[in-house]
This record gives sequence, structure tokens and C-alpha cells, in this order.
Amino acid sequence: MIIVLNKGIEQKLLRNVTKVLRTNGFSYSILKGAKYVLIPVIGDFTTEDVGRFRALPGVKKVLRISDPYYFVTKEYREHTVVDIGDGVRFGEGFTVIAGPCSVESEESIMTIASFLSEQGVRVLRGGTFKLRSSPYSFQGMGIEGLRLLRAVAQKFGMKTVSEISDIRTLDRFLEYVDIVQIGARNMQNYALLKELSKTNKPVMIKRSPAATIEEFLLSAEYLLNGGNEQIILCERGVRSFDSVFRNDINMAAIPHYKHLSHLPVIVDPSHGVGVSRYIPAVAESAVTLGADGVMIEIHNDPPAALSDGFQALVPEEFSRMYRRINRLVAFRNEADDE
Ligand code: PEP
Ligand code: MN
Repeated sequence: MIIVLNKGIEQKLLRNVTKVLRTNGFSYSILKGAKYVLIPVIGDFTTEDVGRFRALPGVKKVLRISDPYYFVTKEYREHTVVDIGDGVRFGEGFTVIAGPCSVESEESIMTIASFLSEQGVRVLRGGTFKLRSSPYSFQGMGIEGLRLLRAVAQKFGMKTVSEISDIRTLDRFLEYVDIVQIGARNMQNYALLKELSKTNKPVMIKRSPAATIEEFLLSAEYLLNGGNEQIILCERGVRSFDSVFRNDINMAAIPHYKHLSHLPVIVDPSHGVGVSRYIPAVAESAVTLGADGVMIEIHNDPPAALSDGFQALVPEEFSRMYRRINRLVAFRNEADDE
């Protein structure tokens, strides 16, 4: 970090800054410029250290050089493959997760899962404890939804993903799902992140609509720092001032996450775009941008869906997109071999 002081700082304030540096065991030097006095400091800083120096009298600003995270970065590890079992892996090839926004009934989840497994999709999603903006909207089937999701997935040899909303249901999620989803609204639920960090259950964490990339990666850092390294990042866009799309999906963030982090990265164009017509194009672009997969909402009868019907693909749309994704993945593999 570099501590910046005004050139005219009183000697006693400067002495105080250096005294605090010494008592905390940091090594430093003092550079006197035309306008400022700069103190480059070497050491292992916490956010609290930076805050402490910012608060010292006479300090103009403190520039932090190092990133605030470590375990999510390639400095810690080059590459992570999250292995869900039975050949389902994130971080190797391209993995498609698909399913309805919510598990609605045995019949509908059965119809959708049967179609998806015929297509070759191995991971079934389905919301069970829904975080809805309105208390009057469908809230999900709860534990019964988790049971249905698992029973149907087992029938078709699929893995499951569902979003946890409440720490008190953690044991049920550990029992019923293969990947626990931390939804956008809970990305900053640090108590939930800490509990999940103590498990070895694969976790897919979504970016909050108001989170910077740094805040998103710091949330993933909570999971890794607590000991869980089975983490998948999911970009789903952020809220913008425009109303054409549900969110503004940050596609350039994909190569950025891949550059910076060893974790698998998937994209959720369903919530990111929110308009079914454009979802296949965005999902397909995720392949060329280097993502490790996508998560897509699909429904056999979107107008009858209990949540997010307007963004659900119908089976024919899904098939077409899925064929194109597979072709693009083959092309990507060829290009990578060159
Ligand atoms: C979801 O995937 O079901 C969902 C609610 O998405 P998000 O948390 O990204 O809004
Ligand atoms: Mn949804």
C-alpha cells in the first residue's frame, strides 16, 4: 500500500504515521515529492489496516496495491474442476444446466426433465424456496419441491441445483441437491456463505444485481476461505437504467473472471436478459467468451408457468439452441487445439 500525505504535513503527524507503521511491523520508506510525501509500505495488509491508516491525522489517502482476495485467484490455484459425480464436471468442456424457474408440480417437472435428459442435459435446475419481490407471488413448493426435484432427477440420471434462501433449511439442501445455488439476493448473506463454506457441497454463487465484480469475487472468497473449494461463479447481470432487458448482462466479465480466477464460470442469460427471444443468442455467445457453461430456464407451457414464464424457452427453442451450443463447443475445442 502507499500512504499519501500532503507535503506540508506537520512533523509530529508524520512521526505518528511512521510510529504506527513500526508498531504494526510494516517496513516502509519515505519519498518527498513536490506536492506530496509518499510512504510505500511493504507487508501483509488487511482491509482494517488500510482503514486504520486512512483515519490517521494528516493522511490524504491510502492506495491499496494488492487485491483484497486471494483464494479465488490464480495465485492460489491455476484451475479448478468442480466434480459433481457421474461425469458431470464444471471447468472442463461446457456444461448446460436447465429446468423451470420453479418446481411447480410432479407432472410439469417430470415432463421438462424427461425432455432435457433426451436432449443430453445432465443437470436439472428448479427453484423450491423462491425469493419473490412480491409476497403475493408464488413462493415455491419448499421441501416438497426439493423431494420432487431429486426424485425426478434420479429417474433420469440427472444432477440437481436449487436455490437456498434460509440457513435453517441447510441440512435439507445438503440432503436433496447436488449443487446449492446462492441466488443474487443472497450473494451478500455472509452468514449463509459462512455456513456453506464449512461444507464440501458444490455451491453455485450468482452475482448480485448491485454488486461490483470485486464484491462478487469477495463473496466467493468467503466460501473458499472457510474451506469449501467446490465453487462455481455465475454471472447473471446487474440492474441498469434501461428497461428493455431484465438486467444488463455483463458478458465481458466472463473472460475477466477466467483470467483472474481458477473457478468455473457459468452464465445465466435467462435472468440476465429476461426476454426469451434473445436468450439463445446470448447463451451461444457464452461459449465463445470462454464460459464453462450456462443455466437456462425452460418450460413446457410458459404462459401457465407460476414464475418467470416470459423468459422460459419452449422445448423447440431449447433444442435448437442446444444443438448450436454443441457445435460451437466443438469449434471452440478445435480452436483451442491450434
Ligand atoms: C434463479 O436462478 O432462480 C434466480 C432467482 O435468479 P437470480 O438469483 O439471479 O435472480
Ligand atoms: Mn427464474
